[in-house]
Amino acid sequence: MALPFTFDLDAWAEARERDRMDALASFRERFVIESPELIYLDGNSLGRLPRATMERLATVVGQEWGERLVRGWNEGWLELPQRLGHKLAALVGAEANEVWVADATSVNLFKLLTAFLQYQRRARPQRRRVLTDRFNFPSDLYIVQGVLGLLEGFHLDMPPEEAGADPAEQIMARLGEDVALVTLSHTLFKSGYTYDMAQVTAAVQAAGAVMVWDVSHSVGAVPLDLHGAAADGAVGCTYKYLNGGPGAPAFLYVRRDWQALLHNPISGWFGQQAMFDFDLTYTPAADVRRFASGTPPILALAAIEAGLDMLLEAGMARVRAKSVQQTEYLIRLWEEQLQPLGFTLNSPRQAARRGSHVALGHPAALGIDLALIHEKQVLPDFRAPDNLRLAVAPLYNRFTDIYLAVQRLREVMEEGSYRRYSSAGLKVT
Ligand SMILES: *Cc1c(COP(=O)(O)O)cnc(C)c1O
Repeated sequence: MALPFTFDLDAWAEARERDRMDALASFRERFVIESPELIYLDGNSLGRLPRATMERLATVVGQEWGERLVRGWNEGWLELPQRLGHKLAALVGAEANEVWVADATSVNLFKLLTAFLQYQRRARPQRRRVLTDRFNFPSDLYIVQGVLGLLEGFHLDMPPEEAGADPAEQIMARLGEDVALVTLSHTLFKSGYTYDMAQVTAAVQAAGAVMVWDVSHSVGAVPLDLHGAAADGAVGCTYKYLNGGPGAPAFLYVRRDWQALLHNPISGWFGQQAMFDFDLTYTPAADVRRFASGTPPILALAAIEAGLDMLLEAGMARVRAKSVQQTEYLIRLWEEQLQPLGFTLNSPRQAARRGSHVALGHPAALGIDLALIHEKQVLPDFRAPDNLRLAVAPLYNRFTDIYLAVQRLREVMEEGSYRRYSSAGLKVT
């Protein structure tokens, strides 16, 4: 590989030394890395493929489906959502019987919001306000809107736009005795801002409302303690830092004491107490399985497990420690080398308030993103209006990846090639 003209041998030696000292470095070899030249900084959109997943899928397809056929249901398939739920529970600080793996994050959010709001309507009918924020993932906002369209009488509320305001303070300032439920993304998909889950949950509950988190951008990158924080409900995604594959089934968490009080609005047979009795009347399972609906996608579920196992083996404390070191390193390089080129830091400076990606702002961020992808073998992503998102996935990203990505970013700026790109024809950025 030709050395780029911006190369500084001392800085390169520092990045190499950090990789050499990295206790998690060997996990990288357990992922499929087809082109070593490619610097992949989009693990918060789609995580890399674990090697063990390829083998597992070959077995599930070839042997379990191909040979065992319908017998597979009694040979592990029926238990798979629960088995994965137990592993996820260990990762998110939940009890084993508080997590279920199923459906898309959006669908799980629909189920939990509907169930909690129906409960609130019965128990606390004067509470009619549902609070969220404009930093939430758009699909979550669409789901909230859909649920409020079905359950008449509730209305949506968001803090107004206020430059420089702290999102948590804005939310806490709007709590009141008419609030039924608060739903937020724990780590915000654009800025990477991360709420203090325990603090916000406690404030919401002290105000008499229910707290539902979306941990999609945290799980696998930020340690979570859902039960410890006494979160009422949560949903999350498995194809980002969990490396579960495109469209991998998501998960939901419902705190144990809530489970018997809530009704799943998609009351299908997989949530039925004794599903193979084929009774004509729906009687939900007593536990978290009541939030299951239809037949689980076994192939897609099987693809999640290897990624979960690796994170459990690495341990979230070590994953987080490396993630913080890497985002701090990236921010230092931004300050030294990119700020002078017009990039702003659109992520929190304080590590405790930041997830595992750093958003850099630039008016030409989309063109820069495309130039990096098409000319420089760097794969970050773009989120409107001006965010270039650079995510570090501690299990496979190296410090040298970060150093090289910043150097290639400087080249793009110095060459001016980003001016040639526009958004024409683009679907996923
Ligand atoms: C990625 C992501 C989702 C994904 O939702 P799906 O319904 O699984 O496509 C939802 N919420 C947040 C906050 C996300 O980051």
